[in-house]
Amino acid sequence: MLDRMRATMKIAKNFKKFLLFALALFFATTLLIKVTKFHNYFGINRADTSEKVIALTYDDGPYPPYTNQLLDVLDSHKIQATFFLIGRNIEQHPEIVKTILARGDELANHSYSHKDMMFKSDDFLVSEIEKTDKLLRDLGVKQESISFRPPWGRRFLGLSYLVAQKHKKLIMWDVDSYDYEKQLSADDIANQVIKNARSGSIVVMHDGGGDRSKTVAATDKIVKVLRSKGYSFKTVSELLK
Ligand SMILES: [Zn+2]
Repeated sequence: MLDRMRATMKIAKNFKKFLLFALALFFATTLLIKVTKFHNYFGINRADTSEKVIALTYDDGPYPPYTNQLLDVLDSHKIQATFFLIGRNIEQHPEIVKTILARGDELANHSYSHKDMMFKSDDFLVSEIEKTDKLLRDLGVKQESISFRPPWGRRFLGLSYLVAQKHKKLIMWDVDSYDYEKQLSADDIANQVIKNARSGSIVVMHDGGGDRSKTVAATDKIVKVLRSKGYSFKTVSELLK
């Protein structure tokens, strides 16, 4: 009887240990996910200025017809933006890249294949960055250092170190337009940006990866409203000067 009680107690004790271990593992994993998803982890989120200037940035292009539509909107307001382009999209639409470049916008690197760059080998990271840099250079990008933004903004120490070693700026954002949230209307996206933008803000939007007509419409409203509040628009490199 006593033996059986002892055995049961032992099982209960072990179970308690297991439970504590599982709980610790759960919290550690949750924390890790939070840290790796945290956008302010590394990189430049905004410019430190009191001047009313903002940089609009667009990821995942070139991507017709939305990139072209967006360029028309930017043209109509006579402003420049920054485009973080995906290498394999550049290969498919070099003519759009040339149009962007001719407008005086800033072209930047958003990897070659838009794969997650978390915890990947240095070789993979370097090839993702260098392939896209070369494509941009071949199309006429003269800027000494081409800025970089990893897919989904996901990065870790190794990637940040590598980008710094290549004398590149890792550009993040402080204003997320949430234009990738399907349920948001063009007005919602615009209001999200208008509400949160301040002096020196870097705004992230998307001209590729799906139907971006709402981003195009939102951009028109964002520029109109923020301009009426006294803001002007610059490329990221100009903003950070
Ligand atoms: Zn992206």
